[in-house]
Amino acid sequence: MNTQTNIELVEVSPRDGLQSEPQVLPTEQKAALISRAVDAGVRRLEVTSFVHPKRVPQMADAEALMALLPREPGVSYIGLILNQRGFDRAVAARVHEVNMPVVASDTYNQRNQGVPTAQSIEDWSTIAEQAHASGIRPGVTISAAFGCPFEGIVEQDRVIEIAEQVAAANPFEISLADSIGVAGPAEVTTLIQRMRALLPDTPIRCHFHNTRNTGLANAFAAVQAGANALDASIGGIGGCPFAPAATGNIPTDDLLYMLHRAGIATGVDLDRIIAISGWLQDILKHDIPAMLPKAGNFPGTLSAAISACD
Ligand code: ZN
Repeated sequence: MNTQTNIELVEVSPRDGLQSEPQVLPTEQKAALISRAVDAGVRRLEVTSFVHPKRVPQMADAEALMALLPREPGVSYIGLILNQRGFDRAVAARVHEVNMPVVASDTYNQRNQGVPTAQSIEDWSTIAEQAHASGIRPGVTISAAFGCPFEGIVEQDRVIEIAEQVAAANPFEISLADSIGVAGPAEVTTLIQRMRALLPDTPIRCHFHNTRNTGLANAFAAVQAGANALDASIGGIGGCPFAPAATGNIPTDDLLYMLHRAGIATGVDLDRIIAISGWLQDILKHDIPAMLPKAGNFPGTLSAAISACD
């Protein structure tokens, strides 16, 4: 078992969270969400995606948003891209990192990116080379790494095979995404162990959805297996418009609580994240999945929980 004492949080609410919200937030409110997260201590954020605005209207303001974001030392803005066109836009918008998904199943890759997986791997290799040349950190995500909404179970051999192929282009990090929230912690452990054995020097980031309530257990398994970074979304908002029934990302609030109580530092202030959740809930005008804003931090803000027990 790994005994690491810190892990990096990647805040994905501005991208994965907001892209599945029916309501499109004004660009200024997205920028406010990102600034508040940075003020709470978050240092890496997936802020937007550079995809066709007709496919994801919520992200149509990618360039305008990037122009609004304050540049702070040590703060890295990630742009999600699906192809060369997206990469070119991301470079022009001055992202620090790009993240390109390559889906472990062909059907899902075709639906998400309009080409088979092998073509996305080829595109990724070209893009990674260009990113290295332009001083942008290229990261790659193996999506649907635990299961596909169209093809079912995804074999770990297939994920490892893709990891080997995408690693040839020198990503600074490889993400494993449970895009539709089907994984359980035991599979997370074995997949990360196999990734570690294959690529001992490549940092591993994990992306979990809480669709079947296994998200936090998966995150903890990932930490124990030696993952370097975890994605989460403030309030637990999010999903994927192309994955039927995919619900929110694991909530940043609840994830921080679990990690901090285990003595694993994140550098992020949980109370400030809970405050952002409350603000976000007011803006989105619906309940959010995270538990910490309802139950209160502990020790610290028990009054809310006590009055709820009357
Ligand atoms: Zn996702």
